[in-house]
Amino acid sequence: MRAPNIDIDSAPWWDALRLHQVVVQQCRVCARRWLPRTPACPYCGADAPNDQPIPGTGVVYSFVRAHRAMSDVMVKEVPYTIAAIDLDGGGRVFARVEGDCSIGDAVIPEFVDHDTWTELRYRQRPVDTTR
Ligand SMILES: [Zn+2]
Repeated sequence: MRAPNIDIDSAPWWDALRLHQVVVQQCRVCARRWLPRTPACPYCGADAPNDQPIPGTGVVYSFVRAHRAMSDVMVKEVPYTIAAIDLDGGGRVFARVEGDCSIGDAVIPEFVDHDTWTELRYRQRPVDTTR
């Protein structure tokens, strides 16, 4: 899989993933949280947001199932699922989901380490049978 183009705005996201953590930005003024990363708050325009660690868990908002590879690198990967996931700590992320999923499914993060970067993936949250 091709490595992402990491720039000054996205570096904290990739650095956190390398440590198997998920961070979102939080506004110092209005306290709202968001993802994807931006240099300023998309709600009030304040700059220099803080990074806040979150559990990385979430709920599937929507998804697509890819049956055709978009590049030669992905030929062995099809079919696979890409989902928009509403994170429990705020923000929405697009990520691959292992296995099947449906809208509204609770999902948990998985961190896939590649040579120079770590990919955030998801899978369905296991059903708690201890209750
Ligand atoms: Zn704000």
